Amino acid sequence: MIGVVKIGGAEGNKLGTLMSELAARVAGGEKWILVHGASGIMDRLCRERGVEIRMVTSPSCYRSRYVGEKERELFREAALAYGAKISDTLASFGASSEFLDPEKTKGVFAERKDILREYSGGRTRILRGNYSGTISGVSSEKILAVAEGGRIPILPPLGLDNTSKLSLNIDGDRLAASVAGSVRADILVILSNVPGLMKDVNDPDSLIRTRTSVGSWEKFEEYAAGNMKRKLLACREAFNLGVSSIYLADGRIPLPLKNAEEGNGTCLTL
Ligand code: ADP
Repeated sequence: MIGVVKIGGAEGNKLGTLMSELAARVAGGEKWILVHGASGIMDRLCRERGVEIRMVTSPSCYRSRYVGEKERELFREAALAYGAKISDTLASFGASSEFLDPEKTKGVFAERKDILREYSGGRTRILRGNYSGTISGVSSEKILAVAEGGRIPILPPLGLDNTSKLSLNIDGDRLAASVAGSVRADILVILSNVPGLMKDVNDPDSLIRTRTSVGSWEKFEEYAAGNMKRKLLACREAFNLGVSSIYLADGRIPLPLKNAEEGNGTCLTL
């Protein structure tokens, strides 16, 4: 059994609950790969260093961060710092891990999105000089070698740009989907600060437990706004790559993986 779990990078995320569960599962023989975000630490670093945080909404309503040269360096610093914190937390529960920096492993590649389109006030503007990337390739070899050795591979939201040889920030949810596809994972769990996809984001009782209960993917996706839209895109990509169990679930509670598997989040394959 091999699983992929993504944890958000928002500040205040409690790492202990997931890390203790992962440590116990890996000790019991399961293989897990951890993908993380870095948004919270990035925002904090920007505030500390006086760098403006610039979020951009595209004409198709996807939100992303504008990343100039300064922001690219800060994002890498944030991703490395959060990865180190995760690794330390796993170690405190007796699990060993390996942080896979794409600049060293050459395992995750990205293509630079030099231009971002910003839709605001009924108009679309073109922003140039952006340094975030779209995932262009994931190699499963190194990831699997670490997992086979009983350690937990930790993947930051970074991809190596073959042209510039720089690591660019990429979307962590979509990275988790690509990794799950490339290692032929049995399960993908995307954890965040909500119980799953809800019909009404302010009403936890409106949780959609199974995607198929609302009909088509399109109908299901209509419920998502903001950052949830990209999570659903990631889930759909994983589905198309053949991942057979995909969950969106709550990362703030004890035993978040068990909670997801027991049907207390949104299952996207049922
Ligand atoms: P993370 O940083 O942990 O990856 P995000 O903040 O990026 O998490 O994404 C989760 C957010 O998506 C929620 O906090 C919520 O505000 C937003 N959201 C929008 N629509 C929905 C919905 N229908 N159901 C649940 N969450 C939603």
